[in-house]
Amino acid sequence: MDHTDSTYPVQRSDAEWRELLSPAEYQVLRQAGTERPFVGEYTDTTEEGVYSCRACGAELFRSEHKFASHCGWPSFYVPSAEDGVEYIEDNSLGMRRVEVRCSNCGSHLGHVFEGEGYPTPTDQRYCINSISMRFEPKQ
Ligand SMILES: [Zn+2]
Repeated sequence: MDHTDSTYPVQRSDAEWRELLSPAEYQVLRQAGTERPFVGEYTDTTEEGVYSCRACGAELFRSEHKFASHCGWPSFYVPSAEDGVEYIEDNSLGMRRVEVRCSNCGSHLGHVFEGEGYPTPTDQRYCINSISMRFEPKQ
């Protein structure tokens, strides 16, 4: 996975990311790992608030767009802002998927799937790792 793209506003060296993030956070955010299903701290949260990038703090998703997909990871049907995330075609594991990254720092968040039939306004499922985000409850 090449994360050296120089267009991201937040630029850090690999050594800086390792220092800033826990080993588990680093593995998902910077090496495009995937958290095991049903263990993430935000899988079933329904509290009102904002989910931000755990690597750089940029807002990514809102609780009002979160829905119960029962897939084992936090699921949203739309990001807070379309330019808050970016999409990269991912052909790893023999599957054609669309990776979702933070557009501010380039960190890996998860994948987006569409046309699965969920009763949401977009029929999209942003399947996001809990460990890629930090939740801030509404004050
Ligand atoms: Zn970020």
